[in-house]
Amino acid sequence: MKRIHFALIALAAALPAFAKEPVITKEIREENGKQAEYMFIDGIKVHEEDPAKQPQPEIVSPKPYDAKAAKAPEGATILFDGSKATMENWSSMKGEPTKWKLVDGAMESVRGAGYIRTKQEFGSCRLHIEFASPAKPEGSGQGRGNSGVFLMGQYEVQVLDSHENTTYPDGQCGALYGRKKPLVNASRPPGEWQTYDITFTRPLFDEAGKVTRKARFTVVHNGVLIHDDVELSGGTGWAGPHAATEYAKHPDKGPIALQDHGNPVRFRNIWIQEIAD
Ligand code: MG
Repeated sequence: MKRIHFALIALAAALPAFAKEPVITKEIREENGKQAEYMFIDGIKVHEEDPAKQPQPEIVSPKPYDAKAAKAPEGATILFDGSKATMENWSSMKGEPTKWKLVDGAMESVRGAGYIRTKQEFGSCRLHIEFASPAKPEGSGQGRGNSGVFLMGQYEVQVLDSHENTTYPDGQCGALYGRKKPLVNASRPPGEWQTYDITFTRPLFDEAGKVTRKARFTVVHNGVLIHDDVELSGGTGWAGPHAATEYAKHPDKGPIALQDHGNPVRFRNIWIQEIAD
């Protein structure tokens, strides 16, 4: 018995060493007479659409909506509660008043109004946020109900209407955009309120700007775990049709930002708790 016990302890201690880092490779390809960078994560092209190479996440039933989780726990900061007053917690990316609309207790993205951001900045945190894609679905793929939740103003958890709407898995709802597809597709139909509960650990950088600890995400979508303490292999910014940005040193805190991608996506019940790094 004792021997088994020790064996288990030894295994548990060794586990982090087994958590393998994804292998990232790049190549330059000629595309329509232009040079384009292609990035591969563990051999799979960024934004791969071929299900034989990048299978679509399994579709699962979301958990029932949890009204209790919408309420900010004690000590949390309410970023938006449906009121005009809390909409004042947000601005355009330039710090100007946002042109997003307040509709039925939700903030609605307005085409051309640009991203919005919190005036306050955060590092590692727990974030609860609810979103709904337009009830009448329009467009397809990345064009349907596209928005995004950005931690530190830049690390995107994709928001997309992924109900009966296929796109490349690393860009579907819940994806860490261009970096990691969700474990499963727990989306609700368009127009219904959906939830993200995100636990985010910020990246650290050394003096020279090199990342010394990568960001980590745990994401629960509609009560279903879709990222389980995932180490983010790099940035989630757009670096071409098949490439994502790399880490670049930034301050210890940044805003929560929401994307205007041209679709009237709504957000509500947003609260945040800072957590220890
Ligand atoms: Mg997006």
